[in-house]
Amino acid sequence: MRKRRARALALTVLVGLAGCQSVESPNRPAPYEFRASPTDPIFHFPSSQLPVRFWAETTGALQEYVELGVQMWATQFLYGEFWGALVADSLQADVIVRMPGPPPPDAPLTDDPPVQTCIGVTQIPNFVDDGSGQLRFEARIDIEMRWFSGEPSDIANCLARVTAHEIGHAMGIFNHSSDQNDLMAIPVTARRPTARDASTIQTLYHIQTDILPFQP
Ligand SMILES: [Zn+2]
Repeated sequence: MRKRRARALALTVLVGLAGCQSVESPNRPAPYEFRASPTDPIFHFPSSQLPVRFWAETTGALQEYVELGVQMWATQFLYGEFWGALVADSLQADVIVRMPGPPPPDAPLTDDPPVQTCIGVTQIPNFVDDGSGQLRFEARIDIEMRWFSGEPSDIANCLARVTAHEIGHAMGIFNHSSDQNDLMAIPVTARRPTARDASTIQTLYHIQTDILPFQP
C-alpha cells in the first residue's frame, strides 16, 4: 500500500502528449493523477516490451495473486496496450514480487468485506540519463508483500487485492486515487480496478513514456 520512490535526477520534463490518443467516451470517468508529482517524468512499459515479465516467489499463493492482478489490469485495455506473464527466471523479469517469511495459511478467495491483514510496498528504482537524454530505470521494479495474523480468508483476500494494487504501481501509477472505491486508493478495499482506475491506466498508456524500463 505504501510506496517508496527515489530519483537520481532532479529534472523538469515536458509532459509528452504526442502519443496515441485514446477514444474519449462521454461516460468515461476522469482519470486521477498517476504521477507522485505533476512535474515528474512519466513511466509506463512501452508496447515494444510486452509482455511485461513478472517473477514471483512460490510462497503460498503469491504467484496466483500476481497472475490474477496482471490479468485484471490487462483486461482494462481494449487493444492489448498492456499484458504480462510470469517467468521462471528472476534475471529475465521486469518486476520482482517477494513475500518474505513463512507462507500464509492456505485459504480460497471470498467476497467477504476487506480486512487489513497485509501490506505491500513497491520500490520504484532510480532513473538515470543514459547519456543521450533518454531516462532509464537502474534496476527492476520490486514489490514486497507482508501478511499479519488474522482469519486465513481475510489474509488471502488482502494479499490478492494489495498485490493487484502494487501491480498498478509497477505499471506506472506512482500515486494514489483519492476515491476510496478505487483499487489504487489506500487502504486498499477494492478487489479489482474500477472504471476510474481503468480510465487512468488507459490514459497513462496512451502518453509517451519518459522513462524506459531497466535493461539488464
Ligand atoms: Zn499504494
